[in-house]
Amino acid sequence: MQDKITRRDIIGRVGALGALGILSTVLPSEAFASAPADRKLVNLLELPALPYPEDALEPVIDKDTVKIHHGKHFAAYVAGLNKDLKNMEKARQSGSFDDIKQLSRDLAFNASGVVLHWIYFSTIGPNAGGIPAGKIGDLIKRDFGSFEVFWKQFSAASKSVEASGWGVLAWEPFSQKLVILQAEKHQNLTSWGCMPLMVCDVWEHAYYLKYQNRRADYVDNFAKIIDWAKVEERFNNYC
Ligand code: MN
Repeated sequence: MQDKITRRDIIGRVGALGALGILSTVLPSEAFASAPADRKLVNLLELPALPYPEDALEPVIDKDTVKIHHGKHFAAYVAGLNKDLKNMEKARQSGSFDDIKQLSRDLAFNASGVVLHWIYFSTIGPNAGGIPAGKIGDLIKRDFGSFEVFWKQFSAASKSVEASGWGVLAWEPFSQKLVILQAEKHQNLTSWGCMPLMVCDVWEHAYYLKYQNRRADYVDNFAKIIDWAKVEERFNNYC
């Protein structure tokens, strides 16, 4: 059974926020260990180190925000996911699924939080921004007309997310196209089967220290720190 789960299956299932029911069955470390080496795997059960210093995103995002966002918020999602998976396993072992509704909600909330924060922190960086070249640049042109139109739509979508949530650039595998999504409350499923490629965290904790209620300013500046080479790497690795 184990050897039938390919690495692509794992990535696809973990990445597809809609498939969170399956997540708990493919997360055990032995599943990761058995995967072939052609694709990069992500250990969602440990907080990844920040790939740059906490002040590297200044002046777009201040050091304190990054420190709290990564060290507290992201870390809390990772701890929550570990706990939820244990609770789900307990439920399976006991055979009692009386709490399945709450367990599923908790798991969706924390797993989505881990996936989206992993993408967020690893797809922004210093010395970034600008207009993407390469495959991602071509696909953006193909699917949105131009980078300018893409950014207008992505920033408009991010600015207008109701309350907490995310702006998401994702790969829609069925039509093989890039799409832009709004995720309100990330535990609510957005689009089954989509692979998020680049995300803009518009929960207040991501910008409030510096921007207060000016989310639009944060989103406008966010363009300066998107690392499009990383977005392309993600596309090549997982799509
Ligand atoms: Mn966040």
